[in-house]
Amino acid sequence: MEIKVVRKVLAVNEQMAAQNRQLFAEKGVFTLNLMSSPGSGKTMLLEKTLGRLLPRVPTGVIVGDICTTNDAVRLARSGAPVVQINTDAFGGDCHLAAHVVREAAEDLDLAAIDLLIIENVGNLVCPAEFDIGEDLRGVVLSVTEGEDKPLKYPLMFRVCNFALLNKIDLLPHLQFDKERAIANIRAINPGLPIFEISAQTEEGFAPWLAWLEERVREKQQTNRQPEETGNGR
Ligand code: MG
Ligand code: ZN
Repeated sequence: MEIKVVRKVLAVNEQMAAQNRQLFAEKGVFTLNLMSSPGSGKTMLLEKTLGRLLPRVPTGVIVGDICTTNDAVRLARSGAPVVQINTDAFGGDCHLAAHVVREAAEDLDLAAIDLLIIENVGNLVCPAEFDIGEDLRGVVLSVTEGEDKPLKYPLMFRVCNFALLNKIDLLPHLQFDKERAIANIRAINPGLPIFEISAQTEEGFAPWLAWLEERVREKQQTNRQPEETGNGR
């Protein structure tokens, strides 16, 4: 019975995610779902990312936490429009579901942004199961975590389109085996682009932001030149 209930929840979520994806496409917004365990440095990463993208790439943020608006306060200092989701009001979910993202997106002027970054609730498990209508999924693994996280949470690393290995400035102080961590990611998802970065020092930001902006441009071009497929269903 339990399994049936979960399947139904996911099926409803899939429908809502498809509607989100259509809305974002209509508004010309490229969406990035950023996931990780708690404390991997997502919020600082976004603060520094916004500092580099704005105002050149108009970017909005949806940030999910179970409680508090701390992250939204930090991110809003960049000048980007920010909406905080507290899942406490939705039963304290440890992930963002598509309908919750939809509600938050309605508080943003989507016509005014090209990129929407969604900072998911810190959790390597169920966020991987919930499509929220995003274009791109990224996972942040910090070098203060175990090298075997990709092996322990394979679904997350399987569904993502890129990985950020964060806090590399701390490597000299840690026993962390970076090559083993990268090999573990590749064991789960062989072709996954992996960027080594430090949100603290902004080392490695140029290559990953260039890669991200290329994805945004690709989507904008696809939107401008829709394929003549007849769209028959
Ligand atoms: Mg955060
Ligand atoms: Zn959850």
